[in-house]
Amino acid sequence: MTQTIAIVVWSLGMILWWIIRIPHQRRARKQAVKSHRKSMAERAALAAAAVGLVVVPLIHIFTGAFRFADYPFQPLLAWTGAILLVLFLWLFRESHRHLGRNWSITLEIREEHKLVTEGLYRYVRHPMYAAFWLWALAQSLLFANWVAGISGLIGVGILYFSRVGKEEAMMRANFGQEYDDYCRTTGRVIPKI
Ligand code: SAH
Repeated sequence: MTQTIAIVVWSLGMILWWIIRIPHQRRARKQAVKSHRKSMAERAALAAAAVGLVVVPLIHIFTGAFRFADYPFQPLLAWTGAILLVLFLWLFRESHRHLGRNWSITLEIREEHKLVTEGLYRYVRHPMYAAFWLWALAQSLLFANWVAGISGLIGVGILYFSRVGKEEAMMRANFGQEYDDYCRTTGRVIPKI
């Protein structure tokens, strides 16, 4: 593996992420929304994730603006990144499949929203966010560059920590005891033992 191949792997991951999401985005537009918790902070957090995971690496690839922060490429790290990227894509696809019509890019409750507790959601409450952590980790291993490597982790960190508490409060307000019971047996991104 070379840095160029690692960048091709990262790019493929990004394209596949986009392809996996398209049908869900289309379907989501047609699902009526009952209530939402959208805010400027929520929008800013989503933008931070997009900048860290997509914009910064693309600027690095196309302009070399962050070349000052390069360090020697290590194939073993990049291979580990490639494996995490495959795991990310699998988790992302599976969590979308299980969430189905209940998915939203922001914090929304749909008409006829159902609490999903099956599949990956049986073990963790946020498999899709776990997937985003894996993507960010993969990025940090595929780029031998401090700026492009760490930007994804910062972006996902901002999205995750600003959103997860609000999302759980929204779910609790909507599902009450059912959500409390669900929380008792699941972890946020790491299964409860
Ligand atoms: N946090 C989840 C889902 C991310 S998508 C994950 O990481 O997998 C965000 C939307 O999913 C939220 O607006 C919420 O309405 C919905 N959601 C989150 N958990 C859910 C669950 N267990 N069942 C149904 N909908 C859920």
